Order: sequence, then structure tokens, then C-alpha cells
Amino acid sequence: MAHYLPFLDEAGQAIDHGLALYFPAPHSYTGEDVLELQAHGGPVVLQMLLARCLQAGKDIGLRVAEPGEFTRRAFLNDKLDLAQAEAVADLIDASTEAAARSASRSLSGGFSVEIHRLRDALVRLRLLVEATLDFPEEEIDFLQKADAQGQLLQLHDAAARVLDLTQQGALLREGLTVVLAGQPNVGKSSLLNALAGVERAIVTPVAGTTRDKVTETLQIRGVPVHVVDTAGLRDSQDEVERIGISRSWQAIEEADAVLFLHDLSRMHQADYQRDDAVIMGRLPEAVRRDGRLIHVLNKRDLVGHAQEMQAVAWLPDSADAASVVVSAQTGDGLPLLRERLLSLAGWHSVPEGLFIARKRHVLALTETKSHLESAQQQLALAENAALDLVAEELRLAQQQLSTITGVFTADDLLGEIFSRFCIGK
Ligand code: GDP
Repeated sequence: MAHYLPFLDEAGQAIDHGLALYFPAPHSYTGEDVLELQAHGGPVVLQMLLARCLQAGKDIGLRVAEPGEFTRRAFLNDKLDLAQAEAVADLIDASTEAAARSASRSLSGGFSVEIHRLRDALVRLRLLVEATLDFPEEEIDFLQKADAQGQLLQLHDAAARVLDLTQQGALLREGLTVVLAGQPNVGKSSLLNALAGVERAIVTPVAGTTRDKVTETLQIRGVPVHVVDTAGLRDSQDEVERIGISRSWQAIEEADAVLFLHDLSRMHQADYQRDDAVIMGRLPEAVRRDGRLIHVLNKRDLVGHAQEMQAVAWLPDSADAASVVVSAQTGDGLPLLRERLLSLAGWHSVPEGLFIARKRHVLALTETKSHLESAQQQLALAENAALDLVAEELRLAQQQLSTITGVFTADDLLGEIFSRFCIGK
């Protein structure tokens, strides 16, 4: 039932008129009694209203919620599991439509269902192994009949599949970082615009997701791509800008890809080649070593085939680094470049719907998979298999899975997860 009411201050004067909605437990977001007041927007009115509420509710200990506290309570009251609770934050922070859709899928339990399925299979196998432990003389026979090895293999493959989906989901959440390097006028901003096209990502001003001004976010097939333009990395006197800049250099070290742009129409010139070599020298060694460097030869529309073929020889490092020939102006070569970027980041399309995921989930599933592998190795020793070790590995695997949905999760981890929410969620 919604009531339209005046909200009164201490003296009985109306602060605003609005709606009061009462959600009796357990039919609320948190599972507790919830009173929701809807007023007109505007920071001053809302501040006054909040202050008045705190004053009026002083006697019952009313206070402002901590970040994530509503969702934390929903989790503690079994309204959501942990993966779903995290999806709430991810839905709010989503910077592309694809990320928002996947977050919503995780929120409605898509991810949790996969994890529960793995856990159920794991529990069945554990029951088998642990029961066998009690009958040592028959153990190998018993396990063979139940095809423990086959079950374990299936479980391992299922975990590998979920891990892959989770990695994709994490990529969709975090996006990939791409650094643009190159001399002035080679076409960096043109390329940025061409890559973004109409698909510019929604850059949300949510705390923690705002990027520095040298970073632009666009999207490629729904994956957020954070582009750092090294042209913005001048020396600066401004403290805030300096912090941004040092973060950007860090981003370059950790970037998924560095695009080194070249102007095909000028690459044959000696002074141009010299300046390219200087930029090359500034790029971190690791980027080259790991194959994260892509030379982008731009302005293809201005040169002939012969010059284009020769250009690779003019690149500042040997020809073994990857190169893509494009025209930011005509759009030639851009689809290939987009594919390259996505595949460098490990993205591949998956037929079923993606759910959003976090690094934490990827780590837990990686651990799960490796415990399953250890169990497989033990079990493969047949006669000499140490069943208690197999049982222990399976127990550890299940423990890792449980941290995802939060069935047995340490309190400190919970604190860590919920503190990253924005206030009032
Ligand atoms: P930046 O300084 O590296 O950001 O370079 P800009 O994007 O500002 O481009 C410099 C000039 O090159 C502009 O006049 C662009 O129109 C032009 N330009 C960029 N890409 C291309 C291209 O693919 N073909 C042609 N013909 N001109 C281009």
C-alpha cells in the first residue's frame, strides 16, 4: 500500500510531499521490515528529509546505512547468495549494455545455478569416496564399479567450462585496457573515434569506476575497452594530473594491448623513423616480450600496395611483432583490429548467455579445477591410490566453490565485498 503524505519537520511544517511504502518482513529487499520514502529529488530536500528521519528515529537507534548494508542484510537473510549480491553492484556499475545484461543474469541466479550444479556433482562424488574409505579391503573395486574416475573427469570438464564462462564474464565486467602510442598526427584520435563509432560506452560517474581524463572508454561487441592515450601523458605540475599520469604508466605496464600507431604516408622519412624509435624505447619491455604490442599502420588510403608492403621493414622493431594495416578514415582494417584486441584479451564468443563475474570467482574456480586435477592424479594411481588424499582434494575443491556463493565464507571476505558497494544499496 502506498500512502501519499506530507513529510513534516519538527515544527510540523511540510518539508516535502511524497510517497511512503511499507514492506513488511519478509517481503522486502533485505527480508526485514522496510519503510521506503519517496520524495522529490534535489539534494537539499533529501538532506533535510534524511536529517529529519534520523532525528525522529533517534530513540529506536535509526542511523544511515553503511555502503552495501542493505544488500549485506539481504544476503544474511538468505534473500540473495553472494554471487547474486555482487551482481547487484555490478549491475549498478555496468558500463555497457552487454555487461548490464550479464549482471542481471547473475542477479537472477544464472551463475549461482552453474556453481550449485558443480557442487552437487562434487558432493555426490565425495559421498562415494568417503564411504569407500570405511571399507578399505574393497575400495578399488567399489570405486571402479561406480566409475569414480569417469565422474571425476566429467566434473573436471564441467568446472573447466564454467571457469571459461567466468573468465569471459570477468572480462565483460572489468573490460580491457588498451594503450595508444604514436607520434602526433598519426591518427590516434581518429582511430579512437573510428573504433568507438556509435558504440561509445556509458561512462558512469560511480565512485571507483571513474577513470582519469587520459582514458576513454569505448566498447567492442559489448566488452568495455579503456583506451589510454599516451599523448595525454605529458609532464605536469598539477598534483591531481600527476597522479593520473603515474596511474596511466602503470596501466601501460599492465595493459592488455598496446597499439603503436604509424602513419604509412610518412614512415619512409628518416626523422619520422627516429622519432618512432624514441617512442618504442619508452614502451615497457614486458609489453613487447608478451606479444601485447600491435603495430597499427594507419592511413592505408593514402599509399599504394608497394609502400604498404615495404612499411613493415620500417617498423622500429623487427617484423615479428603483430601488425595491422588500417585506415581510420575509411574504416578499412578496423574489424580485424577489433578482433585482434578481443582475442589478445582472451575473449571469444560463447553461445549461451554470459553472466557477469569477478576476478575472485575466476580465482576460486581455478583453484577448484586444480584440486580436481590433483584428485584425478591420485585416483589414476589405481592400486596405490591414496583415497584419503583424493577425499581431501575433493573437500578443498568444494570449499573453493562455496566461497563463490558464500555458503562457508569468512567474515573478512564478506566485509571486503560489501564495503565496495555505494552508499544506500
Ligand atoms: P593524432 O594527433 O595522432 O591524434 O592524429 P589525428 O587523429 O588528429 O589525425 C591527424 C590527421 O590525420 C587528421 O587530419 C586526420 O584527418 C588525418 N587522418 C587520420 N587517419 C587518417 C586516415 O586513415 N587516412 C587519412 N587520409 N587521413 C587520416
